[in-house]
Amino acid sequence: MDFGYSPKVQDLRERVDAFMQEYVFPAEPVFFQQVADGDRWQPTAIVEELKQKARDAGLWNLFLPESELGAGLTNLEYAPLAELMGRSFIASEAFNCSAPDTGNMEVLVRYGSEEHKKQWLEPLLNGEIRSCFGMTEPGVASSDATNMQANARREGDEWVINGRKWWTSGACDPRCKLMIFMGLTNPDGPRHQQHSMILVPMDAPGVKVVRPLPVFGYDDAPHGHAEVILENVRVPYSNVLLGEGRGFEIAQGRLGPGRIHHCMRSIGCAERALDLMCKRSLSREAFGKKLAQLGGNIDHIANSRIEINQARLLTLNAAYMMDTAGNKVAKSEIAQIKVVAPNVALQVIDRAIQIHGGAGVSEDFPLAYMYAMQRTLRLADGPDEVHRGTIGKHELGKYMPKR
Ligand SMILES: Cc1cc2nc3c(=O)[nH]c(=O)nc-3n(C[C@H](O)[C@H](O)[C@H](O)COP(=O)(O)OP(=O)(O)OC[C@H]3O[C@@H](n4cnc5c(N)ncnc54)[C@H](O)[C@@H]3O)c2cc1C
Repeated sequence: MDFGYSPKVQDLRERVDAFMQEYVFPAEPVFFQQVADGDRWQPTAIVEELKQKARDAGLWNLFLPESELGAGLTNLEYAPLAELMGRSFIASEAFNCSAPDTGNMEVLVRYGSEEHKKQWLEPLLNGEIRSCFGMTEPGVASSDATNMQANARREGDEWVINGRKWWTSGACDPRCKLMIFMGLTNPDGPRHQQHSMILVPMDAPGVKVVRPLPVFGYDDAPHGHAEVILENVRVPYSNVLLGEGRGFEIAQGRLGPGRIHHCMRSIGCAERALDLMCKRSLSREAFGKKLAQLGGNIDHIANSRIEINQARLLTLNAAYMMDTAGNKVAKSEIAQIKVVAPNVALQVIDRAIQIHGGAGVSEDFPLAYMYAMQRTLRLADGPDEVHRGTIGKHELGKYMPKR
């Protein structure tokens, strides 16, 4: 495969990078100040301003492969842009490329009816509303998604939904108007055909956001990760996506591109940590030498560069495989990057924290927050062990007799 950037991608990279330097990085302190000053759970004016600027600059909805609604980029072409965005906490939203909306929009593009698209996809693409994905439940080990117990029962032309979800990212934001709910609808069906995805308006009677769940004390406001109760929530039967019992079919398609985005953002985050590590290690001295020259610090810098480059190439390879062979064939490659990227980012951030001394764990630098966010990616979208299981099974499958 050719890892070089096409002229189109090179142009977009330059424009996204320039936008980040001119608007996004300077907006970070403003964002945190606005969250701290007002109601934490209201959207900030600064991000709305950034969104308008990005849209005016033609840097909008850059994700969305194989659809005329996006920028017409493949996964491989979009990946380096996601990396640039990953350097800042607020960038993805500015470009309307943030999770979980991107995955949800892809689901609506591929599996939504014309009516669903009109009602939900259009405002999402316009950045007017946000959405969440409700799969994980506090009551069951959710790394095995066949465990989901929240259920939807058909009554005439409606679904009646009951259950408790948690870690529903984005549900605390008042702009979040839609949940893609994954729940049990066909308990007697084969194991992977018991669950369905159903569109649930967040303002439907019976939907209650109980509390935000902080991550190591960071609440990630105004986005947040919520516990949500659904109590006798009624939605039209037609809100089911693709059909009853086909939730896993959709999940397979949904998670592939989302993982590439997450991984490339992790790599961007690691790049920022390495940048901070280099600057800090050259700007301070101890025992008569620059920090960079002490002990094994130069090795830490070198190893960080090696690991980031390896992770990037692995992720680009997974993107390439998805584009050329499809998500199903690329299953092992996608699982590989999902393990590698957050772990590399964590290693690099940890080294950067160490070289910053006490400043590294303070809020004067973004490193502590970066660490907290990256640590969640070893769990979110499936824990490392589950992905290792996929990779291991794929390898062993080569040695099994063909059925
Ligand atoms: C910040 C954050 C955001 C999230 N956002 C969302 C969201 O928007 N929507 C959503 O639905 N979910 C979301 N999640 C939930 C996430 O996907 C789950 O936490 C994850 O799938 C694991 O499920 P669990 O927490 O129930 O852990 P469990 O299933 O209880 O697993 C616990 C541990 O058991 C071990 N384990 C599990 N399976 C295996 C295995 N096969 N082999 C070896 N060990 C294993 C692993 O160490 C695992 O971490 C989010 C989580 C976090 C932290």
